[in-house]
Amino acid sequence: MSLCGSDVQKNRGYQRRIKIINTTMEIIKEYPTDNLTVIWKPKKCIHAGICVKTLPKVYNPKAKPWIKPENASVGELKSQINTCPSKALSYRES
Ligand code: SF4
Repeated sequence: MSLCGSDVQKNRGYQRRIKIINTTMEIIKEYPTDNLTVIWKPKKCIHAGICVKTLPKVYNPKAKPWIKPENASVGELKSQINTCPSKALSYRES
């Protein structure tokens, strides 16, 4: 089977679309507790370290998992998450 000019054009467009989809794919990590799930989007994180300074008992980049939401109250988590400068952090209430 040979591709005529228009098929090649369509095929290139298809490949381009796949690339765009690949570059916009977002990695989303979730750290659930009973009442609240912390959501972290690593590609958005600018590593300002505000989360680590504000709630070191929750955010520890050297630990695995690096976010342990069970170590703070829902109120503490929400108020810290709202200060994330890049909005890499967000939350969902359960
Ligand atoms: S506060 Fe937000 S931007 Fe800063 S290190 Fe934490 S997750 Fe990343």
